[in-house]
Amino acid sequence: MTVLRRKTRTCKIGDLCVGSEFPIRIQTMTMGKTENVKKCIAEIKTVENEADLIRVAIPNFEAAKAIAEIKRGIKIPLAADIHFDPRLAIAALDYGADKIRINPGNFFDKSYLDKVINLARKKNAAIRIGVNAGSLEKDIWAKHGAPNSDALVESALRWEKYFLDRDFSNFIVSLKSSRVPTMIDAYEKFAAQSDSPLHLGVTEAGPTFAGTIKSSIGIGALLAQGIGDTIRVSVLDKITKEVEICKEILKSLGMYGKEPDIVACPTCGRIEVNLDKMLKKVEKALKGFKKPIRVSVMGCVVNAVGEAKESDFAIASGKKAGAIYYKGELYKANVPEKDLVNELLKLIKEKA
Ligand code: SF4
Repeated sequence: MTVLRRKTRTCKIGDLCVGSEFPIRIQTMTMGKTENVKKCIAEIKTVENEADLIRVAIPNFEAAKAIAEIKRGIKIPLAADIHFDPRLAIAALDYGADKIRINPGNFFDKSYLDKVINLARKKNAAIRIGVNAGSLEKDIWAKHGAPNSDALVESALRWEKYFLDRDFSNFIVSLKSSRVPTMIDAYEKFAAQSDSPLHLGVTEAGPTFAGTIKSSIGIGALLAQGIGDTIRVSVLDKITKEVEICKEILKSLGMYGKEPDIVACPTCGRIEVNLDKMLKKVEKALKGFKKPIRVSVMGCVVNAVGEAKESDFAIASGKKAGAIYYKGELYKANVPEKDLVNELLKLIKEKA
């Protein structure tokens, strides 16, 4: 099944285009202090080849000032994360941020908002309008009684109109909640009423294991409906892990066209080979291989042939030996276990 993307406008962030005409973009956010420029650049370098966009926290003017130098040291567009103080949004734009993430609802002085919009326009920068429980306007909170999906949608539509009324459309919208059902509901309702590109994420998703599951369900449920143009998984882990999880979510939906999707069986009592060892070897060899091939490594004939039919390259193991499949057809039978992975990799190198 190919997912049909919901049609959205294009938002330009530096050289990066985000919207339904383009692949789903992956982003993450640095953990270290932005003002520690050397360390910040080093952290960004760890994901620079895999992430499309990097976000840095701007809690003070020193951090805003660091943007100019950080940008000189990196290859991907930079988004500045602003909360409360609109003057930091202005400083971040002045120092060259390609995008700012603001929650207009939590600006301490909303009279600055037009200045921020005008400056973003002048600098050709993008804005993400963030909406979450912490930024809900008082009247909306009072009307809905809680930061539920309807409240988030009303707030997002209000800010979207505010920006469009000022003839500014180079923005992305996010409606985040730490509750997955609320987040899904909010994005679905908003998407039905808007063509703004959407950034998906489950806010405060938590530790790596729980956060991965929450994010995969929240982001995955929306992506599967064609909703979402850029994603971030937030977990308490290295940013390389966040990017890795994003890639796996996209791969699982056939939406990641940059590297192999590796499929393996969990093994069971029928296993007659060391599948774990074989899989690790395949994973290691294909790390950094930039082709969107599907590779399956299966423990026995029960599911291997069916899986091989769905894969570009496959191993179907048997008793201390196995077969290699290419595009669903048997390529080589009776390959000893010790040669299976090498034969597979040789074939991938030749054909992919
Ligand atoms: S493919 Fe075979 S070994 Fe692997 S889980 Fe299925 S039945 Fe078990």
